Amino acid sequence: MTRTDQLCQPDQPDQPDHLAPAHRTRPRALSLLKPTGHLTLGNYLGALRPMAATQEHADCFFGLADLHSLTIPHDAARLRSLVAEQAATLIAVGLDAATLFVQSHVPTHSQLAYLLECVATTGELGRMIQFKEKGRGVESTRASLLTYPVLMAADILLYRPEQVPVGDDQRQHVELTRDLAVRFNATYGQVFTVPEITTPPVAARVMDLAEPTSKMGKSGAADGPGVIRLLDPPDVVRRKVARAVTDSDTGPDAVRRDRAEKPGVTNLLDILEACGGSAEGLTTYGALKRAVTDAVVAELDPVQKRYAEVAAERAYVTETYARGAERARSVTQPVLAAAYAAIGL
Ligand code: AMP
Repeated sequence: MTRTDQLCQPDQPDQPDHLAPAHRTRPRALSLLKPTGHLTLGNYLGALRPMAATQEHADCFFGLADLHSLTIPHDAARLRSLVAEQAATLIAVGLDAATLFVQSHVPTHSQLAYLLECVATTGELGRMIQFKEKGRGVESTRASLLTYPVLMAADILLYRPEQVPVGDDQRQHVELTRDLAVRFNATYGQVFTVPEITTPPVAARVMDLAEPTSKMGKSGAADGPGVIRLLDPPDVVRRKVARAVTDSDTGPDAVRRDRAEKPGVTNLLDILEACGGSAEGLTTYGALKRAVTDAVVAELDPVQKRYAEVAAERAYVTETYARGAERARSVTQPVLAAAYAAIGL
């Protein structure tokens, strides 16, 4: 039996896997990544590395949210290739102790989303900040841009997690999830566990090297000079770090943290520390950049080597995700069935 086989077993094989939280031996954790671009150093330090740590104490379901990538005009071939790349990357960073799946391979997500659309209102969806922001100035958008928070609610409620750690940008969506769960339960009978919203432990927030007041993001300017991709080879990392914005202060204490006055230097120091390096004795920007490059290259090297192995083993990737999707389906099907029965289907 492989490691993944063992870890894909329910916690207690003699108990149904969908049992309510009180019956679980480990808490459940759920995290979905949207395959809208190449994963960055920001995704790695802010999400993938913490996800790897979560696997040690929780029963984790990690998914690639391909359906969520369809809310704005997209290219089908690019989406397919990003899903393949991210699927192998998640394994390369060691997330295969979790149940890994692609969202569209687990149809219960969209099936439950429809039922929840029948308890959600256009009014509350229209008030979602992200809908307003992404739809601003556009006469008409894909209807899914309005409804995707309901799909997100389904993503969460199907797994009955006790808690959902969420950053400020997603808080409103998880509040909607709770509202929909409470409303469904009150109207049709107790089906959903209403998850608690918790604040995640502070993770590294990596800023764009060229625009250090903006987040290093995988969408938008992901090909920009200030974005380090997880799979960037060492010479590309070196070039991007060498061109990182610092400032014109060259005094003896120029290399110091000051988020307001020196956002570029502060970001480089944060990255250095997050990658296990030290700024001790560094007095020039050149020395800082060399140290950052070395630390980032050393941090990414094992991931990139493992990525090359994993990407060459297509069958392993396919099998891991097929097994993950099968477990995700079996965990979520009873919840969907309960929702269908309660709503009168
Ligand atoms: P996104 O790429 O914005 O869809 O985010 C996916 C995950 O990566 C989320 O958990 C984000 O918080 C995390 N993440 C994305 N960009 C960064 C960044 N620059 N610094 C830290 N975490 C990030």
